[in-house]
Amino acid sequence: MAETKTKTKKKAPTAKATGKSCTIAGCKRAYRAKGLCFFHFKKWRAGELEAKPARYKTCSKPDCKKKVQEHGLCKEHFEAWKKSRKKNAAKAEAAA
Ligand SMILES: [Zn+2]
Ligand SMILES: [Zn+2]
Repeated sequence: MAETKTKTKKKAPTAKATGKSCTIAGCKRAYRAKGLCFFHFKKWRAGELEAKPARYKTCSKPDCKKKVQEHGLCKEHFEAWKKSRKKNAAKAEAAA
């Protein structure tokens, strides 16, 4: 009687190009879950992360981590964007 052990081939951790990456600014670790890499995901689960990307989206301005208000911008940047729009509209009107 020969014992035939089925060898369980361990799948090599191939880095799948999902296009996803950690949402923490400056972090380039491989994506794990909840918009975070393994390192930050662990931190998030432990409640050590201040920003919880899964809860809400943050301002799309690169250096801004405030909560999104509208159009992917925080209140501050959204107001600035609205103002700049108004300015442009006024300019367009003046030119016409
Ligand atoms: Zn990370
Ligand atoms: Zn902002």
